Amino acid sequence: MKRAKEHRETALSYLIPKYHFASMSFFREEPLVKWPYTKAVLFTAYDVYRSNDFWLHSLARSGQTLKEGLIELGFPKTNSLVADTGIFEIEAKKAGLAEKLGIEINFELTNNQIFEAYEMSGADFFVSPDEIILATDEDKPKRAKIEEIKSNLLDILEIVPSEKVIGVIQGVEEKYINDLFEFYRTHGVTKFAAGGILPLYRHDKDLFQQVITYVRNLTRGYWLHTFGLPDVRLLPFYLQEVRMDSIDTSMLLYMTARRRYLVGIHQRPVRLAAFEHCDCQGCATLNRQMYTRGTDFFVALYIHNISEASKVADECSKGKWAPKKDDNRILKDESLERSTAEPVYDEKPLKDKSYPDWTTAAVLFNDKE
Ligand SMILES: [Zn+2]
Repeated sequence: MKRAKEHRETALSYLIPKYHFASMSFFREEPLVKWPYTKAVLFTAYDVYRSNDFWLHSLARSGQTLKEGLIELGFPKTNSLVADTGIFEIEAKKAGLAEKLGIEINFELTNNQIFEAYEMSGADFFVSPDEIILATDEDKPKRAKIEEIKSNLLDILEIVPSEKVIGVIQGVEEKYINDLFEFYRTHGVTKFAAGGILPLYRHDKDLFQQVITYVRNLTRGYWLHTFGLPDVRLLPFYLQEVRMDSIDTSMLLYMTARRRYLVGIHQRPVRLAAFEHCDCQGCATLNRQMYTRGTDFFVALYIHNISEASKVADECSKGKWAPKKDDNRILKDESLERSTAEPVYDEKPLKDKSYPDWTTAAVLFNDKE
């Protein structure tokens, strides 16, 4: 299939997790820096600007790119680094969603700052800065945002060739979606991302499904990434049903912060996990010593969650994911009764209202179960 070929050419992957190497030093240390879990990771300009890390300053002085600096620390050369703005976190505040999402923003980021971070990144792909268009926006602001997104594309094309640009498709109505897509295509963009997904999911689940299906059909034959996985149980929906090419997985970080252990597409409290029944690198660590706090515990649990999600994503990409009867295989026996009471994916996943709240990276370690 064309889809498989594109994966090899571009070195993108089904999952493109946020990789907070600028603001969190443990991403630059073993085991995370070796990153064998996905072919591509994403970092944000926002993460660069909120970081006070000395490593960044010394790198900037040395004239190396961020990716070169990472590779020196052990990051695989063949992995792709995708540069994003982090604008969602900032836009969320403007849209009044910040409190609900648990996001704290105390500054704005100009396009110049974003492009400066992009230029020092040495990244392989660059997300063109966008504006979140909400379903509830009036026509006039919608149009203004579309014009802003277009003007941003022209700006980024001054510093990045079009084949490295990822154009974010915003908007809920077909006329706006079509307009943006045509504009990107006219300027040689061949990689796309669906944006504004989380607010839309929360606004109207049916509309959410219509819009992402429409965007997928419109961009058929091109790479289509999705910003926003509101519930990890939607992985098969995105990757197998809608056939998105990739998805960001910030969700897995937040899940890990809440001490949740992924079994297939289900989140379980980590205390129920039987680490010896899982063969991932994270569980090997957790099995040797059950840390309950601190970075080592967090990292090992994150490795498990990302490895488990990668397995699901691989199955989905082959069209072979199905709800598992043995989805409790890596849980302790005593947990079985409790876990089977939870809804499973194939029972109307989109009607489920109990999606988890968000946490910021900054509070990852202060979580209480
Ligand atoms: Zn594991």
